[in-house]
Amino acid sequence: MVVTLQIQHALKQSTNPAHTIDLLNVWAANLRHTDLAQAWKINYQAEYHARNGIFAHTPYYQGLVECWYWRGKFYSVHKKYAEALGCFYKSMEYCDYVDDALLSFENQAACYYQDAPDQFIANRVDKLALHNILGVTLALQLQLDAALEHYLIAEEIAIMTHNEWMQTILNSNIAYLYRVLEQPIEAENYLQRAFQRLPEALETQAQKRLYATMLDNTCWVALQHGQLYDALIYANASLELYQALSWSQGIVEVLNILGVVYQRFDQAERAMVEFEASFELAQRLGFQEDMIFSLIQRGMLVATQPDYTQALALIQAGLALALDTDDLSQQALAHKALADVYEQTNACAEALHHFKHYHQIRENLFNERSDQRLRLLQVTHQVLQAQHQARFYYQKTQELVAEMQERDRQRIELERLATIDSLTGLYNRRHFLGLAQSLLEQAWQAGNALAILLFDIDHFKQINDRHGHHIGDQMLQLVATTAQAALRQSDLIGRYGGEEFVVMLTRVSNAEALLVAERLRSTIEQQVLSDAHQSISTTVSLGLALSYPHAEIPLERLIQQADHALYQAKAAGRNNVQIYTA
Ligand code: GH3
Ligand code: MG
Ligand code: MG
Repeated sequence: MVVTLQIQHALKQSTNPAHTIDLLNVWAANLRHTDLAQAWKINYQAEYHARNGIFAHTPYYQGLVECWYWRGKFYSVHKKYAEALGCFYKSMEYCDYVDDALLSFENQAACYYQDAPDQFIANRVDKLALHNILGVTLALQLQLDAALEHYLIAEEIAIMTHNEWMQTILNSNIAYLYRVLEQPIEAENYLQRAFQRLPEALETQAQKRLYATMLDNTCWVALQHGQLYDALIYANASLELYQALSWSQGIVEVLNILGVVYQRFDQAERAMVEFEASFELAQRLGFQEDMIFSLIQRGMLVATQPDYTQALALIQAGLALALDTDDLSQQALAHKALADVYEQTNACAEALHHFKHYHQIRENLFNERSDQRLRLLQVTHQVLQAQHQARFYYQKTQELVAEMQERDRQRIELERLATIDSLTGLYNRRHFLGLAQSLLEQAWQAGNALAILLFDIDHFKQINDRHGHHIGDQMLQLVATTAQAALRQSDLIGRYGGEEFVVMLTRVSNAEALLVAERLRSTIEQQVLSDAHQSISTTVSLGLALSYPHAEIPLERLIQQADHALYQAKAAGRNNVQIYTA
């Protein structure tokens, strides 16, 4: 209740649409055990907002991923696994559209989850979580080979992303698959891996839940190996944990297992207590599978007392339920139990009838099981092979990418060398002329005026002679950076020759061009190059050629004109601007 209020408050405060959608999704998720109708309503709201787009009107795909994930979970609450699968597949499809760049923010709404979803605590639903939930759901539908396939893909992702916790969950989930297949050695193998990964101190709810199921499964393995004492210890340990977690499904299952363990110890009374406790709880919660199991087990126990009438009644009730739920292996068990009891009461016709049923179902079941075992092996093989190939191609791709990056780097460096003057960092003459030509053509089309400005350092030879070539270089750099800084972004500047620079001024009037030239002259004049011993400054002479709109004077001609004006500026005593006049 408190959390709901917190979410509602956060929703009011939220100014970020993605956050709002995350909050709606969490809210709906929390409601799924108490008010499923309301949960659906809010989930639809989340979908509506996510679909209508937030980032430049594209849908918020991560929101849709989470929306459909939770719908799957809603269906799972009612054991509608086929529908749930459809939702998970849909969610998986949306995963492909998620733009990771847009998802750099944390899911801040995750802190409001009431039962932190095991697989993505404080995080987002991703392909890893989806492959895992698909595995779980397919396993519940007894599509074990498909389940394994998803688990193995998930495991590969978990390994690649160094997600230890998910690897632990997946090992435990795969172990359970083998339990369903009645293959204790494989189950034990995966359980061992899961135990090795499990953290020493179990802190979160999810960790404890996982540990409890692992103990439960280990108990089953021990029972298969005939290690009764071990089985008893594991069953009690998992029962204790399930009770601490108030996880009824687990409690019901493990009570039944405990009953079986006591039965194997020949402690009929204690076994009966466990079966009855399990049945009572299962009935209260509507867990039919567990009810059938305890009914049959109780019947078999009562038959040994011997109270055949009650035994038959109990087992018949179990059989009726098993027929109701299409549970073949429970039906087989019931028929076998009935046959045994009828045999003991010398009701041969009835005993034969149930034996026949038992054998027929066993045969079908066994074929189906062995068939599934075979397919499981094939799937494992295929997936392992695919993983192997994927790793190989991944490595190849990495190498290729590195090679391409290196080539790109070299190409960029070459281009830079070809276009930039290394001393001043300005465009070199060739590149300047290329760019200037296209700017000129644009100006012609647009009917804009432009100007060419050519300037040359005054008495530069003297600077070299007096202070050395090194200082001369520094002066060239100073003039270049000063000129560049004094120009607009849209103007173009290049080093034309030794100590001569060229500028193209775009979209300027005559008066503006003259102002720019004058500004260049005066700022350069004010610059000082400080050496350890002295301060050196310099001046430039500038020649300006103006291109009038629609005059279409070619570039070379403009430069010649500017050069002519520059010559006049030198002749006029240097450190001044001259405009070309015909
Ligand atoms: P004016 O005022 O008539 O332009 O006289 P000036 O001395 O600047 O003209 P002149 O063309 O006689 O000399 C240019 C000098 O620039 C000659 C050349 O050695 C020098 N120079 C050209 N390129 C570079 C360079 O990259 N670095 C240095 N330090 N000097 C250079
Ligand atoms: Mg000069
Ligand atoms: Mg010169």
